[in-house]
Amino acid sequence: MNDRSFGFATRAIHAGTPPDPVTGARAAPIYQSSAFVFGSTEAAAELFALRGYGHIYSRISNPTVASFEERMASLEGGLGAVAFSSGLAAQLAVVLALARNGDHILCSQNVYGGTVTQFSITLDRMGIGVTFVPIGDLAAMRAAVRPETKLLFVETIGNPAGAIADLETLARFAHENGIPLVVDNTFASPYCCRPIEFGADIVVASATKFICGHGTTVGGIVVDAGRFDYGSGRFPLLSEASRGYHGKVFTETFGEYAFLMRLRAEILRDVGSQLGAHDAWLLLQGLETLPIRMERHIANAAIVARHLEAHPDIEWVSYPGLPSHPDFALATRYLPRGAGSVFTFGIRGGREAGRRFIDALELWSHLANVGDAKSLVIHPASTTHSQLSDDEMRAAGVAPETVRLSVGLEDCDDLLWDIDQALEKAHADRRVSA
Ligand SMILES: *Cc1c(COP(=O)(O)O)cnc(C)c1O
Repeated sequence: MNDRSFGFATRAIHAGTPPDPVTGARAAPIYQSSAFVFGSTEAAAELFALRGYGHIYSRISNPTVASFEERMASLEGGLGAVAFSSGLAAQLAVVLALARNGDHILCSQNVYGGTVTQFSITLDRMGIGVTFVPIGDLAAMRAAVRPETKLLFVETIGNPAGAIADLETLARFAHENGIPLVVDNTFASPYCCRPIEFGADIVVASATKFICGHGTTVGGIVVDAGRFDYGSGRFPLLSEASRGYHGKVFTETFGEYAFLMRLRAEILRDVGSQLGAHDAWLLLQGLETLPIRMERHIANAAIVARHLEAHPDIEWVSYPGLPSHPDFALATRYLPRGAGSVFTFGIRGGREAGRRFIDALELWSHLANVGDAKSLVIHPASTTHSQLSDDEMRAAGVAPETVRLSVGLEDCDDLLWDIDQALEKAHADRRVSA
């Protein structure tokens, strides 16, 4: 059995969760325990010295959370994973594991609004600089790299305009410049794209979205490929004696596990942004159906996108799964199973028509989330991107008339019925007066 490499759907159900060795429980048990009894004082000392494997305290690791981490590492094709309390906690941990006061990171311009705020405000207050770069412009990116730059951060499917990252080109760029490529794979999920297969070093994701799949749990994950060489001298936090671990040198002691060990043993230990056991269990339930959910999400999204594109009340549709999208070719290459189910469109009549459209919807829920079984809708300019300046908003691909959809798993006819009746109401006044 060990020689067989199982398929994605099999691993989505089984990876990380053999039957419980003690009770035989087939579903993953929820180990709702803050701490774990040591076998002996000697074993305890070994654990604390990072010489043995085992659980000490659930801020650092927990068996149910470990099942989720192992399954995510398997699905993304990485060496290992560390789970966090949210997607933003996960990506902050990655930055803190590699960068400190005086350092600098590169980030794509086309990222989640919360990422822009976290990087440009909170990291700045900690003395870590960020430059937002156009990821299609390698010359501009090269000009932005500094000796103290520690990573390049991009999204597989950029939020919200759907810009697709050319992962192989970006990985080559990052490695030529001595830094790891970190990819936020939230919108694609490992079903649509596994960035590590295209050269990414670290994958982060908000597990809150498609991984959970039901809008019930906030969580995050970091998966490491274990391939990047942190011993070049550019990453002293990993390659020099750690004050936080009595002089241990992570690259020497842990080899390819150096980054994962620093992430858990120092960042999770000191920041305390761990995932809880019950939340990990809910995310494991979500993962079991990820492949069949994504299939339906993608099928419904394609129907809704084409319906909108043909609708006279719609000015534009920006779905990378449609040939009209500028990154359709990149989507075909990196997301052969489909470009997810989150995309934007512009309604005729601008901001006011957009507002009326959203208020008139009956089935689609107006809220700030994506990747739910339920279909969702939001107006980014007044919500997710409202903290950004007009220039930042334009750079992120958000216009005043932009409406963002997350197409769910309902009967597609019902979704189209709701869109049509809401568009009718959004433009009713003008039709009467015209
Ligand atoms: C939601 C989201 C995040 C943040 O994740 P949380 O779980 O809400 O902290 C980061 N990146 C993307 C692309 C997201 O959609």
